Amino acid sequence: MDSRAAAPNSDPASRKGSHEDAVRAVCARCGTTNRVPRARLGDGAKCGNCKELLLSGKPFELSKATFDRQIGTTDLPLVVDFWAPWCGPCRMMAPAYEQAAAQLAPGVRLAKLNTEDEPELAARFGIRGIPTLIAFENGHEVARQSGALDLPRLLAWIKSNVQPGL
Ligand code: ZN
Repeated sequence: MDSRAAAPNSDPASRKGSHEDAVRAVCARCGTTNRVPRARLGDGAKCGNCKELLLSGKPFELSKATFDRQIGTTDLPLVVDFWAPWCGPCRMMAPAYEQAAAQLAPGVRLAKLNTEDEPELAARFGIRGIPTLIAFENGHEVARQSGALDLPRLLAWIKSNVQPGL
Protein backbone atom coordinates (compact mmCIF):
# COMPACT_ATOMS: atom_id res chain seq x y z
CA MET A 1 0.00 0.00 0.00
CA ASP A 2 2.69 2.45 0.98
CA SER A 3 4.30 2.23 -2.42
CA ARG A 4 1.28 4.08 -3.71
CA ALA A 5 1.78 6.92 -1.26
CA ALA A 6 3.52 9.15 -3.76
CA ALA A 7 0.79 11.00 -5.53
CA PRO A 8 1.53 12.36 -8.98
CA ASN A 9 1.41 15.89 -7.62
CA SER A 10 3.50 15.20 -4.53
CA ASP A 11 6.50 17.38 -3.99
CA PRO A 12 9.77 15.50 -3.55
CA ALA A 13 11.47 18.47 -1.90
CA SER A 14 11.66 18.46 1.87
CA ARG A 15 8.40 20.16 2.61
CA LYS A 16 7.89 18.25 5.81
CA GLY A 17 6.28 20.51 8.33
CA SER A 18 5.28 23.13 5.83
CA HIS A 19 1.68 22.70 6.83
CA GLU A 20 0.91 26.23 5.74
CA ASP A 21 1.31 25.31 2.11
CA ALA A 22 -0.15 21.89 1.53
CA VAL A 23 -2.27 19.33 3.28
CA ARG A 24 -2.31 15.59 2.77
CA ALA A 25 -5.66 14.08 1.92
CA VAL A 26 -6.22 10.38 1.35
CA CYS A 27 -8.59 9.58 -1.48
CA ALA A 28 -11.78 7.96 -0.18
CA ARG A 29 -12.03 5.80 -3.28
CA CYS A 30 -8.54 4.49 -4.06
CA GLY A 31 -6.53 5.28 -0.93
CA THR A 32 -3.88 7.37 -2.66
CA THR A 33 -2.37 10.12 -0.53
CA ASN A 34 -2.58 13.46 -2.30
CA ARG A 35 -0.96 16.76 -1.42
CA VAL A 36 -3.27 19.66 -1.95
CA PRO A 37 -2.16 23.29 -1.70
CA ARG A 38 -4.12 24.73 1.20
CA ALA A 39 -5.31 27.64 -0.92
CA ARG A 40 -6.81 25.20 -3.40
CA LEU A 41 -8.67 23.05 -0.89
CA GLY A 42 -12.00 24.54 -1.82
CA ASP A 43 -11.42 24.36 -5.55
CA GLY A 44 -12.65 20.82 -6.09
CA ALA A 45 -9.19 19.21 -5.93
CA LYS A 46 -9.21 15.72 -7.43
CA CYS A 47 -7.23 12.59 -6.66
CA GLY A 48 -4.15 12.40 -8.88
CA ASN A 49 -4.69 8.67 -9.30
CA CYS A 50 -8.40 8.09 -9.85
CA LYS A 51 -9.75 11.65 -10.30
CA GLU A 52 -12.24 11.28 -7.45
CA LEU A 53 -13.09 14.56 -5.70
CA LEU A 54 -10.83 14.60 -2.65
CA LEU A 55 -12.97 16.81 -0.43
CA SER A 56 -16.42 16.15 -1.75
CA GLY A 57 -18.30 17.46 1.26
CA LYS A 58 -20.09 14.13 1.59
CA PRO A 59 -19.58 11.56 4.33
CA PHE A 60 -17.48 8.67 3.03
CA GLU A 61 -17.39 5.08 4.21
CA LEU A 62 -14.38 3.72 6.04
CA SER A 63 -13.40 0.06 6.26
CA LYS A 64 -10.70 -1.93 7.99
CA ALA A 65 -8.64 -1.62 4.83
CA THR A 66 -8.79 2.18 4.73
CA PHE A 67 -9.26 3.20 8.34
CA ASP A 68 -5.70 3.57 9.62
CA ARG A 69 -4.56 5.24 6.45
CA GLN A 70 -7.37 7.76 6.56
CA ILE A 71 -6.93 8.48 10.26
CA GLY A 72 -3.14 8.59 10.22
CA THR A 73 -2.39 10.28 6.92
CA THR A 74 -4.45 13.37 6.84
CA ASP A 75 -3.70 16.92 7.83
CA LEU A 76 -7.40 17.70 8.02
CA PRO A 77 -9.48 16.86 11.06
CA LEU A 78 -11.59 13.77 10.54
CA VAL A 79 -14.83 12.93 12.30
CA VAL A 80 -16.04 9.33 12.23
CA ASP A 81 -19.63 8.29 12.85
CA PHE A 82 -19.67 4.74 14.23
CA TRP A 83 -23.09 3.48 13.19
CA ALA A 84 -25.06 0.44 12.06
CA PRO A 85 -27.97 -0.04 9.66
CA TRP A 86 -30.22 -1.51 12.39
CA CYS A 87 -29.78 1.53 14.67
CA GLY A 88 -32.75 3.89 14.50
CA PRO A 89 -31.03 6.94 16.02
CA CYS A 90 -28.11 6.41 13.62
CA ARG A 91 -30.43 6.52 10.63
CA MET A 92 -32.19 9.57 12.06
CA MET A 93 -28.91 11.42 12.40
CA ALA A 94 -27.71 10.54 8.87
CA PRO A 95 -29.32 13.53 7.06
CA ALA A 96 -27.92 15.99 9.62
CA TYR A 97 -24.52 14.33 9.31
CA GLU A 98 -24.62 14.81 5.53
CA GLN A 99 -25.56 18.46 5.94
CA ALA A 100 -22.76 18.96 8.46
CA ALA A 101 -20.26 17.38 6.03
CA ALA A 102 -21.35 19.81 3.32
CA GLN A 103 -21.20 22.82 5.62
CA LEU A 104 -17.80 21.98 7.11
CA ALA A 105 -16.10 21.08 3.82
CA PRO A 106 -13.33 21.34 2.89
CA GLY A 107 -11.74 22.13 6.28
CA VAL A 108 -13.11 19.07 8.09
CA ARG A 109 -13.80 15.62 6.66
CA LEU A 110 -16.69 13.48 7.86
CA ALA A 111 -16.66 9.71 7.53
CA LYS A 112 -18.78 6.77 8.59
CA LEU A 113 -17.86 3.37 9.91
CA ASN A 114 -20.43 0.57 9.77
CA THR A 115 -19.82 -1.28 13.05
CA GLU A 116 -21.78 -4.29 11.81
CA ASP A 117 -19.33 -4.73 8.94
CA GLU A 118 -16.26 -3.83 11.00
CA PRO A 119 -16.74 -5.15 14.56
CA GLU A 120 -12.97 -5.29 15.15
CA LEU A 121 -12.64 -1.54 14.70
CA ALA A 122 -15.64 -0.91 16.93
CA ALA A 123 -14.00 -3.09 19.59
CA ARG A 124 -10.64 -1.36 19.17
CA PHE A 125 -12.25 1.97 19.99
CA GLY A 126 -14.38 0.51 22.76
CA ILE A 127 -17.62 1.52 21.11
CA ARG A 128 -20.40 0.48 23.49
CA GLY A 129 -23.35 2.36 22.07
CA ILE A 130 -24.11 3.85 18.69
CA PRO A 131 -24.13 6.29 17.20
CA THR A 132 -20.76 7.32 18.60
CA LEU A 133 -18.84 10.17 17.03
CA ILE A 134 -15.07 10.35 17.36
CA ALA A 135 -13.07 13.35 16.21
CA PHE A 136 -9.47 12.75 15.13
CA GLU A 137 -6.68 15.25 14.65
CA ASN A 138 -3.22 14.22 13.48
CA GLY A 139 -4.14 10.58 13.94
CA HIS A 140 -5.28 10.95 17.53
CA GLU A 141 -8.69 10.88 19.09
CA VAL A 142 -9.45 14.35 20.46
CA ALA A 143 -13.13 14.04 21.35
CA ARG A 144 -15.93 11.52 21.58
CA GLN A 145 -19.68 11.87 21.70
CA SER A 146 -22.24 9.13 22.25
CA GLY A 147 -25.83 9.53 21.13
CA ALA A 148 -27.39 11.23 18.13
CA LEU A 149 -27.18 15.00 17.67
CA ASP A 150 -29.31 17.29 15.56
CA LEU A 151 -27.60 19.54 13.01
CA PRO A 152 -26.97 22.61 15.23
CA ARG A 153 -25.54 20.51 18.04
CA LEU A 154 -23.55 18.40 15.59
CA LEU A 155 -21.96 21.50 14.07
CA ALA A 156 -21.31 22.99 17.50
CA TRP A 157 -19.72 19.80 18.81
CA ILE A 158 -17.40 19.44 15.80
CA LYS A 159 -16.41 23.11 15.75
CA SER A 160 -15.67 23.15 19.46
CA ASN A 161 -13.41 20.09 19.25
CA VAL A 162 -11.37 20.39 16.08
CA GLN A 163 -9.49 23.09 14.24
CA PRO A 164 -10.67 23.19 10.61
CA GLY A 165 -7.71 22.75 8.27
CA LEU A 166 -8.51 25.86 6.35
ZN1 ZN B 1 -8.25 8.21 -5.77
